[in-house]
Amino acid sequence: MRKQFYVNGEWKSAANYADLYSPYSKEVIAQIPQATREDVEQAIDAAYKTRKQMAKLTAYERAAILEQITQLLIANREKAAKIISLESAKPIKFALGEIDRTIETYKFAAEEAKRLTGEMIPMDAAKNGANRFGYTIEQPLGVIGAITPFNFPQNLVAHKVGPAIAAGNTVVLKPASQTPLSALFLAELIDQTALPKGAFNVVTGSGKTVGDALVESDKVKMITFTGSPVVGIGIREKAGLKKVALELGSNSGLIIDKDVDLAEIIPKCVTGAFSNQGQVCISLQRAYVMDEIFDEFIEKFSSATKKLVIGSPLEETTDISAMINPAEQDRALSWVQEAVQNGAEIVTGGTIQNGVFMPTILTNVAPDLKVSCQEVFAPIVIVNRISSVDEGIAAINNSNYGLQAGIFTNNIHTAFKASKQLEVGGVMINDIPTYRVDQMPYGGVKESGIGKEGLKYAIHEMTETKLVVWNQKEE
Ligand code: NAP
Repeated sequence: MRKQFYVNGEWKSAANYADLYSPYSKEVIAQIPQATREDVEQAIDAAYKTRKQMAKLTAYERAAILEQITQLLIANREKAAKIISLESAKPIKFALGEIDRTIETYKFAAEEAKRLTGEMIPMDAAKNGANRFGYTIEQPLGVIGAITPFNFPQNLVAHKVGPAIAAGNTVVLKPASQTPLSALFLAELIDQTALPKGAFNVVTGSGKTVGDALVESDKVKMITFTGSPVVGIGIREKAGLKKVALELGSNSGLIIDKDVDLAEIIPKCVTGAFSNQGQVCISLQRAYVMDEIFDEFIEKFSSATKKLVIGSPLEETTDISAMINPAEQDRALSWVQEAVQNGAEIVTGGTIQNGVFMPTILTNVAPDLKVSCQEVFAPIVIVNRISSVDEGIAAINNSNYGLQAGIFTNNIHTAFKASKQLEVGGVMINDIPTYRVDQMPYGGVKESGIGKEGLKYAIHEMTETKLVVWNQKEE
């Protein structure tokens, strides 16, 4: 029950512990060590001391270690998924899906480790470049501080640990306080691999204490953060010249053109809006539907939503369970109430039943209401009527965020226009904004962040490009 954190290949106790509650059953499932600043500094020192050893590993060795992690996750698939369900209330079928993606993420990291190359520079293309031979090499940064959120406790950790190891860096990981068990389980698995001790460390505890120690340390060369904009922006402000990658929130939008096959897209919209209780950074939050099919869409979408199975995250049939904590559910409820007081209509949901926030569809929502303009991070979706695709594009762009957006249309010109005009990091044509596979470049514009994840792209963020120029003798 009482957990330890993982520093320099050893399990360490702490002076203080906090009870960890399961969000659905409300039972205490573990006691989590609360790291002090000194504990974090020890972890940073371990990672710092190991950085040269780590940098000397060959690409073959780094890939082999990542492949070992992949195999250990395959062997522990059910166990790892059950931990996610217990600590975050993610329904088990989605937790298993997350582990399958995590396995793929480490696999991609192993493959990318072998493809880490620089490039030749055509030096003699410049007037003064004759007889020079130039190329770049990608060198590891050293210690990377990784800070992760609760909503994908294995796969979003993998998006930091995988590329960090692939590039030859060492890591100090700070998981979200609600989901430390997945990170500690990963440490148990990594302990069984050939990764040098000290190259991977996990410290648990308060975001501020651990986060500040990582951000303020001169030994940490990069912070890779996934989480809310408010925390991410705070980190950037304190980080000085450290590299910072921020994967932040969004209020992702979708346009539905008049000519689409609703039977085909409704199941996707249900998944996009409600999987993991809407606690997904690219969750479908705003749908803009053409006038001609609006009523039919609302009817079919709400009838499919009402069929979702509500219950315990550990039941195989469950689609929707509790949100991460009661305070978040109350916050979401107050946002729905604000919307209703300002003219929005509830199509379905809008209540908390047996401790679960019911999947909620709202229509007629003004753009300045919180459920529209802020990140709702709950099983709530707004569906508004539009009379042109241009209106939908403008509505999606009217946002402080810009992570991903989607459009369903059969008109090639409309699709092309949307791909050019939507102000987001990724446009999904004929798909929901929630679509993601783990090797694709992924990251937002505006307040959705800076830097890209996706293995090849994250590895690039986690290396320093060094130029080498040889001055050759004239022949
Ligand atoms: P959060 O509250 O921002 O927490 C994220 C991490 O930051 C946690 O480990 C947290 O620790 C830590 N933290 C808190 N205060 C800190 C501080 N002052 N300095 C440094 N670290 C600190 O986010 P969350 O509620 O876990 O996750 C939801 C958010 O993540 C949403 O906004 C969502 O959109 C975003 N997200 C983005 C992506 C993406 O790829 N763009 C993916 C998933 C989620 P504690 O838990 O101990 O507070």
